[in-house]
Amino acid sequence: MSADASVTARTAPRLRLRLDVTGAVQGVGFRPFVHRLAVSEGLGGFVRNTSEGASVEIEGHEHALERFLARLDTEIAPPALIQERQSRRLPAQGDQEFVIAASACIGTRSALVLPDLASCAECLREFSDPDDRRYRYPFTTCVHCGPRYSIIETVPYDRAHTAMSQFIMCPLCQAEYDDPGSRRFHAETNACPDCGPQIALWDRAGNIVATRHQGLTAAADMLRRGRILALKGLGGFQLLVDARNEESVRHLRERKRRPAKPFAVMVPSLADALTVVETSAEEARLLCSAAAPIVLLRTRANATQIAASVAPANRRLGLMLPYTPLHHLLMDELKFPIVATSGNQGDEPIVAGEDEALTRLAGLADGFLVHDRPILRPVDDSVVQVVMGRETVLRCARGYAPLSLTHPAATTVALALGGHQKSSVALAVRKHIILGPHIGNLGGTEARAAFARAVEATARLYDASPQLLACDKHPDYHSTHFAERLALPLRRVRHHLAHTLAGVVDNGLEGPVLGVAWDGSGYGGDGSVWGGEFLAIDATSYRRVGHLLPFRLPGGEVAAREPRRAALGALYATFGESALTMTDLCPIAAFTPTERQVLASMLKRHVNSPLTSSAGRLFDAIAAILGLRQSASFEGEAAMALESAADRAANTAVLAPPIVSDEAEKFVVDWRPMLESLIIASRLDTPTEDLATAFHEVLAEAIVAVAMRVKIEQVLLTGGCFQNARLTARSVLQLREAGFSPYWHHRIPPNDGGIAVGQAAFAVRPLIEEKC
Ligand SMILES: [Zn+2]
Ligand SMILES: [Zn+2]
Repeated sequence: MSADASVTARTAPRLRLRLDVTGAVQGVGFRPFVHRLAVSEGLGGFVRNTSEGASVEIEGHEHALERFLARLDTEIAPPALIQERQSRRLPAQGDQEFVIAASACIGTRSALVLPDLASCAECLREFSDPDDRRYRYPFTTCVHCGPRYSIIETVPYDRAHTAMSQFIMCPLCQAEYDDPGSRRFHAETNACPDCGPQIALWDRAGNIVATRHQGLTAAADMLRRGRILALKGLGGFQLLVDARNEESVRHLRERKRRPAKPFAVMVPSLADALTVVETSAEEARLLCSAAAPIVLLRTRANATQIAASVAPANRRLGLMLPYTPLHHLLMDELKFPIVATSGNQGDEPIVAGEDEALTRLAGLADGFLVHDRPILRPVDDSVVQVVMGRETVLRCARGYAPLSLTHPAATTVALALGGHQKSSVALAVRKHIILGPHIGNLGGTEARAAFARAVEATARLYDASPQLLACDKHPDYHSTHFAERLALPLRRVRHHLAHTLAGVVDNGLEGPVLGVAWDGSGYGGDGSVWGGEFLAIDATSYRRVGHLLPFRLPGGEVAAREPRRAALGALYATFGESALTMTDLCPIAAFTPTERQVLASMLKRHVNSPLTSSAGRLFDAIAAILGLRQSASFEGEAAMALESAADRAANTAVLAPPIVSDEAEKFVVDWRPMLESLIIASRLDTPTEDLATAFHEVLAEAIVAVAMRVKIEQVLLTGGCFQNARLTARSVLQLREAGFSPYWHHRIPPNDGGIAVGQAAFAVRPLIEEKC
């Protein structure tokens, strides 16, 4: 520094600035980061958490303040993220030192609540080091990793407001917490073997079998012996079993009453994953990410170490890596893949408490590996897949939820209650839409109780009193009934419009959009079941511009679990009564002659045989005709089998393209020529796999054909059918070739897990329905 400059520095006036920051700034090391920055620039002042985010006051010379601000923007590291920063000048107070001050509980609560984060590399290294005081400690965390959402009681994110409040830090941990140079400086989850949570292994009755590391090794022994272990993880219980042991996996299926739905698998490391599945760079990145989701991946042809009944007849496997120190320790002991499925019975929500586990998982687990850190907000494992090189979240839960999306139209507080299957809740508040985690299907009492808790907890966490509610238009959904009881202004949103709006929010689309909303079923309001819809939307209105040709579903709702019924309906729509005599086709042969007679009469007289335009049911029909599934034990099983068959194809067959007709100003996609050609080809022994591929191609062609007629450039693919990666990818490619701009889902699930977001968007800015 020159003599002149040093004179200037001494005499230049000191300035003080106050910065109010919002974004992901709590529980991510933001305060320590600001502290380091301020100290290195020789500034005084303080940083503290507020209910809205963080507040910083800095005092010093002008140039130092400028450098501080520039570095604040450029040096901030994920997951920390500044969304907004407001600054104002304050009179200088002469602060020479910079400190982290106690949190201020002022203002409204809107701080972004961060999802739970997988163990970081530094913590992993520490608890693997025999010389480290956290060697083998299952709750090792730092400012960069560990639980967040699942342990937070209320904002701001401070230890006193989390499940860690009951653990008083020992002097060593406290010293780390107070040391600006430490990675655990203000790490609210900081703990060690002397002062933090501990594990224990319980038997079926809840008696302690072993504690600490002995508990872990005893639990590992159980798994080696083929037993089923219930593990209290990060956001709830998981049921674990040796994934190589066919008998044990079958045992778990029997106990869980889950005959065919694929189980997720946890492997010790990425290297182990690569022996089982093929991964792209993006897929490997997701496996190793801080969110650490279950990633759906292609199973290697020579991967024999996974038992067949883990994902029966499926080309893909849901895989994840250990994401807590406890999982890492267990996998280090085992060194083999394990099934890790949600700790619940059937479609119930995930179990989160030990006492609850003893009753709700009774008869399911042979032992319980538990710990004494309470789970305040249950959250399941997330599920994602990569489509066209980009992530699509299929289940938004641990690591992703709560998902906060900027939405400027959200100027009123609106609570959206989602659908019935894959229930979740969304809140429109302070120019954001926040999607809460996956809850489950609202069929049972446990799920309904969890749903009621989620509604209450969401509003409380963000200190928001909803002025408006939004729900599905279906009059019989539990979520609709729940909304009706809350005595607030209620907006009922069309199911497929909610799907489309969720996709619009997800992709940040503006201007006209053609929503291709395809799923299993949604309330139509015209006596028919919708599910193969084309909706044109703009800033103020929407219109159903087209749909798949409707066909009758004998038995209505029952048909969702019996693809052969959908097949019969589609065949009946194509061939009339002669469909009943086509006994060379699997679905027709699957009925007894008497059943055929009854169904024929139902179809003829339109008794309990609603019309449906559902793409999901068309998938069921084709899967049944190709002999893949006549009945289904879970939603989407037949469609999944069809996608799997297509993935195995060596060639593709050629099927008749769909005919798009214009009926009453709606474009109707007539798939009957395709069905006729498929049956002819099938009778000529064309491989099922090739026909499955061709069916996907025809559907993509149908989307392009309708888009050409509607003439809207932005085409959005949404709804449960677009969980089908092949259908999505082929539609995207064909749309691009035809000059359209296709969009699909990214962070918000395309299935019913995302519709709460669309409902919330509709609630804060309703669209008028234009009838034709
Ligand atoms: Zn860490
Ligand atoms: Zn300690």
